[in-house]
Amino acid sequence: MKILQDYDLATLNTFGISARAKFLTEVGSLAELEELFTLPEFKQNKKIFLGSGSNVLFTKDFEGLVILNKLKGIKILKAGAEVGKDFVLIKAMGGEVWHNLVIFAVDRGYWGIENLSLIPGTVGAAPMQNIGAYGAELANVLENVESIEIATGNKRIFTKEECELGYRDSIFKNKLKNKYFISAITLKLSKKEKKNISYKILSDHIEKNKIQIERSKDISNAVCQIRRSKLPDPKVIGNAGSFFKNVFVEDAKIKEMLSIYPHMPYFKENGMTKIPAGWLIEQSGWKGKRIGNVGVHEKQALVIVNHGGANGAEIKNLAEQIVASVLAKFGLELIPEVNLI
Ligand SMILES: Cc1cc2nc3c(=O)[nH]c(=O)nc-3n(C[C@H](O)[C@H](O)[C@H](O)COP(=O)(O)OP(=O)(O)OC[C@H]3O[C@@H](n4cnc5c(N)ncnc54)[C@H](O)[C@@H]3O)c2cc1C
Repeated sequence: MKILQDYDLATLNTFGISARAKFLTEVGSLAELEELFTLPEFKQNKKIFLGSGSNVLFTKDFEGLVILNKLKGIKILKAGAEVGKDFVLIKAMGGEVWHNLVIFAVDRGYWGIENLSLIPGTVGAAPMQNIGAYGAELANVLENVESIEIATGNKRIFTKEECELGYRDSIFKNKLKNKYFISAITLKLSKKEKKNISYKILSDHIEKNKIQIERSKDISNAVCQIRRSKLPDPKVIGNAGSFFKNVFVEDAKIKEMLSIYPHMPYFKENGMTKIPAGWLIEQSGWKGKRIGNVGVHEKQALVIVNHGGANGAEIKNLAEQIVASVLAKFGLELIPEVNLI
């Protein structure tokens, strides 16, 4: 296994931040993963596993070992009677590109992850924040997560319940932060049609373009069209998608805010009410604003961008200013969705 030293991470995170890692390596097989745990660079340094770097902000150089997850493989598992004839279990290794797993599923006519098409990143990072989009989330289909405890090298399988998945959240982002490496996940997908097109942007797009939805692939294609037209491409301008989570509030707060902002958008979800963080940021005057090398995207207020040459501290600083002004204006605290490192 090659260990590189003093490595520039600019091409390994979608913000394009040029932080340096003291050591960098990659694991491409289970044998290499085993070897990794024996290396002095692994034992003696702090370490972080990285997928595609599409949900991280390196706020400074990383004085430890960065391990790129390149474990590949997708297979259909032989399932017992408990899975039933209408479902299929698919196991994917953590270093697979998430969208390739979506393609694998929709090409075979399976339903369940088509709404999550084109989310950047790897399979192994998907449970970290219970990835979600267009009215679906990983939690709807996750069966289990295979992992390795970083301190001991012991294997552990987490059931979906043990992952404590929430809105852009999981046990791996909280109690067990940096404690487990996710090596593989298993999904339970439906062989029978399970259309989920109630999310407004998606249903409007389907209606407007008169798209016939007969296969999960039709939904996947529609989601890809929407995403390509709406979201800034990190290859063109550095970003990590939504920088903050949307904000869930109590009914009393919604009433209070609607009395001041009658046109405020809000959505009922799981008994709570969600206010789009992008709206709060826009109302606080940040949309399209630029400070030096960093700024807020002109069309998506939730997306912080690197206009070129920014460092992580500048982005963190801008994020803190946004949090402070939203707190001052609305009394609501924005929580980053991006992992600050
Ligand atoms: C343009 C754009 C659009 C996006 N849209 C969405 C969206 O619609 N919905 C959504 O949910 N997210 C979205 N994201 C965020 C991002 O795509 C997801 O969070 C994705 O799952 C991150 O995968 P990654 O491999 O890039 O993770 P990384 O950024 O490499 O890592 C993220 C975190 O997970 C940890 N980690 C990574 N792999 C492992 C592993 N195998 N084991 C343990 N820890 C690990 C890292 O240490 C880090 O803390 C978007 C990002 C971008 C840039």
